[in-house]
Amino acid sequence: MFFTKMLIPTLREAPSDADIISTKLMIRAGMIRKLASGLYEFLPLGLKVLRKVENIIREEMNAAGGQEITLPLIFPKDLWIETGRWNVYGKELFRLKDRKEAEFCLAPTAEEAVTDLVRKEVKSYKQLPLMLYQFGTKFRDEIRPRFGIMRSREFLMKDAYSFHTDEADLEKYYKVMVDAYTNVCKRCGFEFRAVEAASGAIGGSFSHEFMILADTGEEEIVWCGCGYGANSEKAEWLPLLQTKEEPLILEEVLTPNVGAVEDVAKFLNASPEKFIKSIVYKVDGNPVVVLVRGDHEINEIKLQSLLGATEVVLADEQTVIAVTGAPLGFAGPVGLKGVKIIADLSVVEISNAVAGANKKDYHLKNVNYKKDYNADLIADVRKVAHGDICPRCKKENLRFSRGIEVGHVFKLGTKYSKSMNATYLDTNGKENLIVMGCYGIGVTRILAATIEQSHDDNGIVWPDNIAPFNVVIIPINYSDVKTKETTDKLYKDLTSKGIDVLIDDRDERAGIKFKDADLIGIPYRVTIGEKNLANGNVELKTRNGSKDSSRLLKPEDAMLEIVKIFS
Ligand SMILES: [Zn+2]
Repeated sequence: MFFTKMLIPTLREAPSDADIISTKLMIRAGMIRKLASGLYEFLPLGLKVLRKVENIIREEMNAAGGQEITLPLIFPKDLWIETGRWNVYGKELFRLKDRKEAEFCLAPTAEEAVTDLVRKEVKSYKQLPLMLYQFGTKFRDEIRPRFGIMRSREFLMKDAYSFHTDEADLEKYYKVMVDAYTNVCKRCGFEFRAVEAASGAIGGSFSHEFMILADTGEEEIVWCGCGYGANSEKAEWLPLLQTKEEPLILEEVLTPNVGAVEDVAKFLNASPEKFIKSIVYKVDGNPVVVLVRGDHEINEIKLQSLLGATEVVLADEQTVIAVTGAPLGFAGPVGLKGVKIIADLSVVEISNAVAGANKKDYHLKNVNYKKDYNADLIADVRKVAHGDICPRCKKENLRFSRGIEVGHVFKLGTKYSKSMNATYLDTNGKENLIVMGCYGIGVTRILAATIEQSHDDNGIVWPDNIAPFNVVIIPINYSDVKTKETTDKLYKDLTSKGIDVLIDDRDERAGIKFKDADLIGIPYRVTIGEKNLANGNVELKTRNGSKDSSRLLKPEDAMLEIVKIFS
């Protein structure tokens, strides 16, 4: 492809409303343009990347036994009433009416439509398992669209749905899909982690998120070299037994006007690990006191699933006073009555702890579990912290990274088949609910997240397999006969081997061509100039700045080298 034949409107500056680096660079590289808030156009170069990612995903879905379909983008309200999602989805759902006043929504996901298709067409266990997937535009009426194509109102997603006779079969297939997603991420070439995710409101189900690592990511994940990985909301840690000190006698100390752990710690000259932080919650309306170590944070998601509660909120001041008999900041476990106490696993290990005295301006020293207080429940209710040990290998320290979620695999179970009555007849002719899994990848999001991970001051650094072109050839002066000859021959040789090549045939200064090549992020660059050609050489340069990133080679050797990389 010739640069002059393609619409690649590169820019020196990004528009001022581009709020993250990936948006800035994609606009500057002429890949996308903004039409309106949260709505983006993909130009030829941007679409090329999107299609490459799409093809990798399609190949892996097909290899996992999937069959591609296309569902409408507009769904009738009735289906959404059946699952109850019309009412629970809220304002993010784009809703519209046709000329007869019938109501519809624009697809945010397609569980309803695909379950409807399957309940009509699948009758027997002989038709299962079945996996259907599609690439489709999805819509979300974001309250404040931002982060470019990362959180836009319209985006391309691959959504897949699997249908099974029972949980065991779903379990087996779920692993196939985790592998397929892992392959997609590996082939796309970005650094990623597959992490266990909190299952959220659907309850009981198990799920994994696929995260592209990037310092700008919104999610915090923890991981270990042994393969363990989890969203920090869900992450577990290895409880460690502490060496117990000789219990000292409980002592009340005056701590006037200091309530926060850090302040009391300073005042008493003790470290926060010695503290018992006592927080009063309202769990489905009832007060519950939760104890964590002074340097730890309560994980409300863990608390909620531990108690099987629907609502966990911090108690108001009045409740705190009613429960502890003291104002905020002086709660402690000693002497509490008539309220459920939940202690984190790390708390009961503290010897001679400091805790609130349930009395204004007083704390207690030398508080010990069993001797001075009890708990109704001892469990993991805190967030992972730096220094925690991996729960799987029980050896390494957990590591923390930030990530951008690009994929999510999820066991749905019978949530949708139950509400929509999707059943099959088993070997005995008995009717059973179909068991489902669902699997999404944000295709547009992969582009933005990859750039967030992989860029430098000069522009995008695409991984080899999803770059808009594999190679850019830059003839310094394309009207020079020998330069043109060498350029055209190399182009022909490379394209005949299936390499995707761009020739920058513009009548521009070399500096401008180099700058644009770096901005667009094409992984390999061959520069052809009269000076090097005099010695029979061209320059091969890699975009990623690795060692030996620039070398002089014979054109045929440059070709062989590139072919080797992409074969
Ligand atoms: Zn580990």
